[in-house]
Amino acid sequence: MNNYKFIDDKKIHSLLNDAKIPDDGRAYDILRKGRELKGLDSGEIFDLLNVKDSKIKNEIFKVAKYVKQEIYGKRLVLFAPFYVSNYCQNECTYCAYRSQNGGLIRKKLDEEEIIEETKMLLKDGHKRVLLVAGETHSDRDLDFVMESIDTIYGVRDGTQNIRRINVNIAPLSVWQFKRLERCKIGTYQIFQETYHEETYGKVHLKGPKSNYNFRLETIDRAFKAGIDDVGIGVLFGLYDWKYEVLAMVEHIRHLEHQFGVGPHTISVPRIEPALNSPISKNPPFVVNDEDFKLIISVLRIAIPYTGIILSTRENEKVRREAFELGVSQISAGSKTNPGGYNERDKHNADNLEQFSLGDTRSTSEVIKDIVQCGYIPSFCTGCYRKGRVGNDFMDLAIPGLIKEHCIPNGIFTFAEYIHDFGDRSLKKEGRELIDKMLVEIQNEQLQDKVRDKLSLISDGKRDIFF
Ligand code: SAM
Ligand code: SF4
Repeated sequence: MNNYKFIDDKKIHSLLNDAKIPDDGRAYDILRKGRELKGLDSGEIFDLLNVKDSKIKNEIFKVAKYVKQEIYGKRLVLFAPFYVSNYCQNECTYCAYRSQNGGLIRKKLDEEEIIEETKMLLKDGHKRVLLVAGETHSDRDLDFVMESIDTIYGVRDGTQNIRRINVNIAPLSVWQFKRLERCKIGTYQIFQETYHEETYGKVHLKGPKSNYNFRLETIDRAFKAGIDDVGIGVLFGLYDWKYEVLAMVEHIRHLEHQFGVGPHTISVPRIEPALNSPISKNPPFVVNDEDFKLIISVLRIAIPYTGIILSTRENEKVRREAFELGVSQISAGSKTNPGGYNERDKHNADNLEQFSLGDTRSTSEVIKDIVQCGYIPSFCTGCYRKGRVGNDFMDLAIPGLIKEHCIPNGIFTFAEYIHDFGDRSLKKEGRELIDKMLVEIQNEQLQDKVRDKLSLISDGKRDIFF
């Protein structure tokens, strides 16, 4: 039984038990409210999750797209995961890194390997990475993570460097979060995996991660330590997806109420096949593509200010469809094995990786696709470097003012990318897209300013942002 204070298990189950399809009038009323960018309450969210009619579903998709564009504009932020170690003491039944998986080759990158890996990512054009690791001994783990962050930030390859490191590592204590905060991380990310406590117990068999409440309180501890840029998520496939969405929204409301700040990002991973993990190949609550699209759209309308992250777990078709539904950040060219970007380790990859990927295209292929879909691929790191995080970010994102930064900064970082890495066709298509985006900036002063800065980029200046 889940009796934890901010996840009201009884309330969620009673909603689930009373589930009914909302009538058309109710659904359209909710969508009208959604268009006002004020978010939705749990009852409204649940009603939209129960919609079956394809005409109304298409309206939900349309409103989600509208909300995304009103808040963030037509840009998609890109990042790559950076796995530094696959050692782990936990036994999460869905993950290849689990401690009892004897078939996995274990690897922890040394400083030299981290530098090599960073250079490979820089050659691909990346500026933002998500550092990922398994969980071993927490204090030594944290030292290793902090040293890795320092190493990555320190690497230069000509004019290129990593400008933002987000982190997805095991929960820390307040004191440990204070140490991590000093490393200038971007977002601290942690997924509850499942908010359903009984299921949580069944899939986390051993190690510190088997403590449901300690994980659930992680973001509270991060906030208390002064980290106010956080990301949350659910691993879809473990339990009823409607329960998970409602519980995640309760988590968000708790954070908003307690700290005045919600999560900067929500991740929506679905379970992918992992080495020696039967549950990953046959998840108990499979989320099909249609329901997955509904989840993304409803979250987008319900929590309009939050970035939604879609990883390369999903295949290119689903990813392309999700761009239209409100996803705002995606990974590209990803590897889930430590050392994966280095050609040298290619032959071992299958026995080192956390799970297999749905989208195995290169970063440049993904970028070309994004351009063809009419979105600006963005490597922006502006908000975090200008201190627009926590409350300051919310103040801009809630009324939809953040796109005055997102679009120009997206244009600058994409212009850098096409100058430094684009082939002839991307240069041509990219410039056409930038011209189109410039015209769409309605504030003429801002448009002139962006044009001025673009000419600086053509002259070789780098790392321009508002
Ligand atoms: N070890 C830390 C933890 O579990 O919190 C850090 C991150 S873990 C390497 C990153 C995430 O990968 C997990 O939170 C989980 O949601 C996801 N994951 C694990 N196995 C997966 C699988 N088979 N398919 C998709 N995602 C998976
Ligand atoms: Fe370890 Fe994280 Fe994988 Fe669990 S999900 S086995 S904690 S790496």
